[in-house]
Amino acid sequence: MLKAVLFDLDDTLLINNMASFVPAYFQLLSAAFADSVPAERLFLELTRGIEAMDANDGSGSSNEDAFKAVFYPALGLCREELQPVFERFYIEEFPKLRSITRPMPGARGVVEQAFSGDRQVVIATNPVFPRVAVEQRLDWAGLSVLDFAFDLVTHIENMHATKAGSAYYREILSVLGREPQECLMVGDDWQRDMVPAAQMGIPVFWVTGPEGVASPWAGPGDDPVPEELLTGRGSLEDVLSMLPSI
Ligand SMILES: [Mg+2]
Repeated sequence: MLKAVLFDLDDTLLINNMASFVPAYFQLLSAAFADSVPAERLFLELTRGIEAMDANDGSGSSNEDAFKAVFYPALGLCREELQPVFERFYIEEFPKLRSITRPMPGARGVVEQAFSGDRQVVIATNPVFPRVAVEQRLDWAGLSVLDFAFDLVTHIENMHATKAGSAYYREILSVLGREPQECLMVGDDWQRDMVPAAQMGIPVFWVTGPEGVASPWAGPGDDPVPEELLTGRGSLEDVLSMLPSI
């Protein structure tokens, strides 16, 4: 019996090609930090900060703390100095990225269907962005947290692992109080949505349409997913028609 549905966000519920989004995001961010940090240095230290979060195994500090422990000392700047720059950036600049994205056809319908039958619904987006940035992207997808009472939205502040490994999915199961087989993970990214969720024993659905696999790294790699855990592949319409029967 399906008790919880986990949805990836980018290129699953929101059309947001990372190959376009990431450079645009970094351009805005480096402009916001231009007075304090050169762009190349910012990129280097952001990358290291993300690596520190990817090394998080769910048992220690939050992703936010793991990031900050690496990022601020490396730049030789104090947290108090840069924190307000980040906060202002997410309120004033981040909304400009909305035009790069589009709502995914069928997203609202499938989320509404997921909520029916008293199921828990999770926005399982890679938790390397702060809550304010995830909630804006949900809004762009037509899935505002004001309209939907998600049981969990993963972000940098509330998670202790990333989609780099199965610890992220273990943490979600723990928060929900669910067994893996009671859940379904729906996502477009084979390596981050399918493989580590299946490693935890969670059944998965691979979203490959109607836009097709949008990210160059989203296709199946060498890592297989056991056939019995791959419940299907296709569009959100396919998920919608499958949900009532599982
Ligand atoms: Mg995705």
